[in-house]
Amino acid sequence: MSWKEHVRAVEPYVPGEQPAEKNIIKLNTNENPYPPAPGVRKALAELQAEDMRLYPDPTAGLLVEKLAEEYRVKKEQIFVGVGSDDVLAMAFLTFFNGEDPILFPDVSYSFYEVWADCFRVPYKEIPLTEDWQIDPDDYTVKNGGILFPNPNAPTGIAMPLDGIRKILDANRDVVVIVDEAYVDFGAESALPLLEEYDNLLVVQTFSKSRSMAGMRIGFAMGNEELIRCLSDVRYSFNSYTMNRPSILAGAAALEDRAYFRHTVQTIINTRDSVKEELEEMGFFCLDSRANFLFVTHPDMAASELFRKLRERGMYVRYFARPRIDNYLRITIGTTKQMQVFLDTVRLILQGKR
Ligand code: PMP
Repeated sequence: MSWKEHVRAVEPYVPGEQPAEKNIIKLNTNENPYPPAPGVRKALAELQAEDMRLYPDPTAGLLVEKLAEEYRVKKEQIFVGVGSDDVLAMAFLTFFNGEDPILFPDVSYSFYEVWADCFRVPYKEIPLTEDWQIDPDDYTVKNGGILFPNPNAPTGIAMPLDGIRKILDANRDVVVIVDEAYVDFGAESALPLLEEYDNLLVVQTFSKSRSMAGMRIGFAMGNEELIRCLSDVRYSFNSYTMNRPSILAGAAALEDRAYFRHTVQTIINTRDSVKEELEEMGFFCLDSRANFLFVTHPDMAASELFRKLRERGMYVRYFARPRIDNYLRITIGTTKQMQVFLDTVRLILQGKR
């Protein structure tokens, strides 16, 4: 008998690299290339080390209040966590306790299967259609819950609200989670459906559109009772998930709508022009509504292009997984970064670099 028999053995999620070098072009983890709203800098500058003696507000009340205002829901309909990864993990623990498998797409955020394994939740991956869509008709089999990103990752493809409604209508008796990590870059949020469906949980994050991946702020919105269940599990796990700086900086970020709209629109514009240029070079690019593009080229294997870019200090994301192992996911950086990136790709394809 060994302690090893009682270990919760899991195959961990592997996040994109965070290289230490400064002079690289980092397009591999869907971070925002622009700084957070100026008010965030101010809020952080005003922090007093002395205040860190005290535990933070366990309810993260200030942040929750601002979120409720921004998204026009009640405070009781909001749950916050340490990035949406934490929110999603808590949702797995809270809502996915049945015997029937939960459903999520085969090409999707690869953390889903890691949580399912970690928490011993049975799951079934539902293949995307040939043209990379989530087909709502595929989500009518008996299940213990449903989860998908919208827009999907790493494809970037968005599902219109009527598709989400179809999934909800066919699944009134389980929790349906829409992971809207990238929704601000051009997809329709499922938030307007909250009033109609008490089993819908919408999860969002400050990591992408609000440029605050380093602060780790995620949140979920749903029916009050759903949120209460989620909070009960969270308080049974760790009472103080949100630290003081995150609460203050997150609240400050929400005050500046103009800055938010401007940076998001800049990224959308850059994405669309980068897509055009890549297509001119012969790339096939999926129709992304996120802050990244998912692309493949007929003349060069994605793994090779990935390697050549990396040698030149440009990091993109390559997934050695079925169906997508000839694609690269390219985060949209600043217009300047993307110009250097495009020039480099052009030279690589011409065999000149
Ligand atoms: N959902 C999706 C689809 C993502 O791509 C990511 C980013 N890796 C997350 C959730 C988690 O983001 P965060 O924990 O930074 O909010």
